[in-house]
Amino acid sequence: MVAGVLLAIGFGLGQVGAADPVVAMIYILATVTGARFFAVEAVEKLRRGLVDIELLMTVAAVVSGLLGLWGEAAALAFLYSISEALEEFTDERTKGAIRSLMDLVPKTALRLDADGTTEEVPLELLQIGDRFLVKPGDSIATDGIVRDGASAVDESAITGESIPVEKTVGSMVFAGTSNAQGALVVEATATTTDNTLAMIVHLVTEAQEKKGSSELVMRRFARVYSPAVLAVGGLIALAGGLATGLWGVWLARAATVVVAAAPCALVISIPVTYVAAIGNAGRKGILIKGGIYLEELGRVETVALDKTGTLTGGVPRVVDVAAVGDSNPDEVLRLAGGVEQLSEHPLAAAVVAAATERAIPIPAATDFSSHPGAGAEATVDAMPVVVGSPAFARRRGVDLGEVAEIVDRMEDEGATVVVVSGAGRAVGAIAIADTIRAGARAMIEELRRLDIRRVAILTGDNPRSARAVAAAVGADEYHPELGPADKAHKVAELEARYGHVVMVGDGVNDAPALAAATVGVAMGTAGSDVALETADVALMADDLAKLPEGLRIGRRTRRIVQQNLALSAVILIALVPGALLGWFALPVAVLAHELSELVVIANGMRMAR
Ligand code: ADP
Ligand code: MG
Repeated sequence: MVAGVLLAIGFGLGQVGAADPVVAMIYILATVTGARFFAVEAVEKLRRGLVDIELLMTVAAVVSGLLGLWGEAAALAFLYSISEALEEFTDERTKGAIRSLMDLVPKTALRLDADGTTEEVPLELLQIGDRFLVKPGDSIATDGIVRDGASAVDESAITGESIPVEKTVGSMVFAGTSNAQGALVVEATATTTDNTLAMIVHLVTEAQEKKGSSELVMRRFARVYSPAVLAVGGLIALAGGLATGLWGVWLARAATVVVAAAPCALVISIPVTYVAAIGNAGRKGILIKGGIYLEELGRVETVALDKTGTLTGGVPRVVDVAAVGDSNPDEVLRLAGGVEQLSEHPLAAAVVAAATERAIPIPAATDFSSHPGAGAEATVDAMPVVVGSPAFARRRGVDLGEVAEIVDRMEDEGATVVVVSGAGRAVGAIAIADTIRAGARAMIEELRRLDIRRVAILTGDNPRSARAVAAAVGADEYHPELGPADKAHKVAELEARYGHVVMVGDGVNDAPALAAATVGVAMGTAGSDVALETADVALMADDLAKLPEGLRIGRRTRRIVQQNLALSAVILIALVPGALLGWFALPVAVLAHELSELVVIANGMRMAR
């Protein structure tokens, strides 16, 4: 601003006919003030062997000054310093948008002490295990489990979903979410620095710093391009001067060419758009862990979906229990319940719930081990008990005997079947109905509108239930009976056949497949640190509609970046010949340049909405 004021004063004095040295002095002051930061940066980069845009601008200003064109030098310094400041400002503001989520967390919490009194304490003093009171209308201070009370909570800060979620005793609640009408007593499970909201803010901020591959290509290009521009500028001055003897004219033209050819808009096209897009997605509960995944989301052509827990959701229910030999259904559920009480799998919860419902006492189990995508085993009643898919039971050397027919019947009915065996012999089977999520079909239709060529279901479940789900949601293909490693192979196969694959899974047993995919998306990650960390993209809400939304953000980003690159290139191509032919002077080149940068920034910022 000071440079701008000085520039105006110099110009005014020149107009009213003040002495040239006075005007020149003021212009010199304006130049120095404006160039203060970028000239220093130019020299620092040069010391590290880098020729960057700042150096191009500095050289142009110095050359103009030495030619006595201090007015032009001052205009350049002023305009370029403004654009640098603008860049910085945009960057800060876009990154600040996600950080402001932290303001949703109250500064204090109402801690419930052992004697039943409440005390208002600063958030930092709240420890894991402490209980705190959340009054109606308050924001929740940190992650925790509801120990008393019931209410609805608006979780939009975390998941981007504005419909309140019902919470009762045992529910998880998250920092920064907003309590509606009821009062809740919450036991803290995280401190103020490591709760879900803090993690989101941290991950998004980190992702905004990470460069995508096209951004890196652009940077490398600029590293070669800027020195080339400087060299060409030197050649123009030399050739023009030698040919015509008009050294002053050609030096000024060369300086104008250097400015006209500086790749300001080109270099900023990508980062400004990415930072805005990643921040925007983050506020919608779609955590994109870096520019590279944003790029890939814009390019994927194939979607692979896990079935259990991803396409199906809600609460799976036991619909049938059958027993063979001298066993009976209650005994089957009792043994299975013993193993499953130690498992995290959604089907395990259904088995335990069924046993509890029938008032079957669940026996203790030891030596538990889980086989992701297959089943689980443990010692119950001093006997090895295996619970899992029929294929898994066979792999563990279980003799299915008469249970094989029961399995066939249950699978024909479209159920997910879990075989229960004791001491190497199948004692029965449990049929579990796993409901397809309400939005699954609509989500896949939405994917088709986004030109996704292929939708595949990958599942550890039996072929019949896989086929039923594929038909119900409208997937192109399904691949049943896959363990975690098989899923990873399948993803690689799909990638070879149809191009970039996005794999959507539940983050834990799908980890290898998520890693093998071009982009691994974990769903419903609020509250699950592992899933949040392993995925490339994490959807905080348990909401399938966020997948097409993420793809759409990727696609829009790609389009905007392409527009920006095209516009920057066109400006360069238009400006350089004009500068060379002397159609306009330095200030015009700078102005055109800064305007194009402004347009590019404004276009990129559209991704913030
Ligand atoms: P998906 O690949 O569709 O998400 P999973 O990989 O989670 O399915 O599970 C695949 C199959 O493995 C299930 O259909 C079930 O038969 C069996 N299974 C896995 N874990 C368990 C468990 N804890 N208890 C019973 N069966 C299990
Ligand atoms: Mg699953």
